[in-house]
Amino acid sequence: MIRLRCDSTLLLTAFTAQLKKPIPGSQWSGMITRMATRGFKEKLVEGVVSLQRTPDHHFFSQPVLAQSFDEIHSTRGNKPVLSHVLYSLQTASRQGMKKILVIGAACHLHTLRDFQERFDYFKEMEILTIGIPCVDNIARSKWPWVLKRMSQSPDTARHIEFMQDFRIHIRHDGGRVEKIPFFSLPEELANPGIFPPACMSCVDDLNSLADITVGYLEAKLLPDQNRQWVLVRTETGKKLPKLIEAELDRFEEFGNRECRSFVQSSSKRIIESMKELDKEYSSRRKIPVWFGHTLAGVFGMIGPKGKGFARYSVDFHLIRHYYYVKFRYPEHLETLVPRHVRVILEEYRLPL
Ligand SMILES: Cc1cc2nc3c(=O)[nH]c(=O)nc-3n(C[C@H](O)[C@H](O)[C@H](O)COP(=O)(O)OP(=O)(O)OC[C@H]3O[C@@H](n4cnc5c(N)ncnc54)[C@H](O)[C@@H]3O)c2cc1C
Repeated sequence: MIRLRCDSTLLLTAFTAQLKKPIPGSQWSGMITRMATRGFKEKLVEGVVSLQRTPDHHFFSQPVLAQSFDEIHSTRGNKPVLSHVLYSLQTASRQGMKKILVIGAACHLHTLRDFQERFDYFKEMEILTIGIPCVDNIARSKWPWVLKRMSQSPDTARHIEFMQDFRIHIRHDGGRVEKIPFFSLPEELANPGIFPPACMSCVDDLNSLADITVGYLEAKLLPDQNRQWVLVRTETGKKLPKLIEAELDRFEEFGNRECRSFVQSSSKRIIESMKELDKEYSSRRKIPVWFGHTLAGVFGMIGPKGKGFARYSVDFHLIRHYYYVKFRYPEHLETLVPRHVRVILEEYRLPL
């Protein structure tokens, strides 16, 4: 049984680190992009299956089979929309490539593993995989609507991340950073209906089928730093951080994995909100921004940190998605939700 969670027993190793020289334009310090370019240079792989930005939209993606340093470099940065990463697998197989790197979210990695079992030509390929953790991805038709409700200046937004300080940080052209507390977003952004049902049913936040996952959840959030959190699951995955070891600053893990009371206190609200099938969501902020910042400050002080924050975030989404399926697609509960999810719910004494 695979437990899609951050328990270290399921990993070969986990650590926090950042590139000594962050890559401008990458999402955090750019560890993924650097591992990809180094893997290509060292001939570990012949091509990289990933995404570039579309020429006309900063946050929209197009698939690419990157086959040069510049092409791989151009894949850096998040595109927070549903993306057809695996499209380029076909190009790679047509070109007769034998060694490739695939970078993707859990949905891409799950599909890739299925292809690898079913199709002979993937069995003959050596495929390295880097996963990103992923939640709250969105259909591109909805993205402009969502961004307009998050930011006061959607047209100049260039970098967005949901941070460990309970705020969304939006960096704009020219470097200004706009911070919006999660608690003060317009109520309509809490509507589960704005997210794709596939994402709301996903319980693999940490991308457990990737050789290595590179996120940030467990890393310390410090001004002017871009610390990342790396989970290594396989011997293949070990090769990738090794390539950039000399370029990394490593940091001690921190925090306490315990976050039970915090998860339990959020769970009641999650269950109620997943039950509200016909709710009308208003465009107003229930909590004014100034008070949202106060709450974010208090949560930052009393809430889980480091290991505890990572576990809280993963379990929060797992619980949200279980009840999303239970109340909205009960006919799929048995088939969509893996058994370990129920074990975790029982640990929190939540109703099945
Ligand atoms: C929608 C979304 C939600 C995320 N949620 C979390 C989270 O909750 N917790 C967490 O720790 N991390 C999350 N991440 C991952 C995190 O934001 C960084 O992408 C990751 O830590 C790598 O940072 P980096 O600087 O090494 O990335 P970079 O070196 O900039 O490389 C990022 C790689 O991810 C690829 N990529 C970007 N967008 C997508 C996409 N939509 N689908 C597939 N591949 C993509 C890029 O093409 C590039 O190859 C999320 C990413 C996305 C896109």
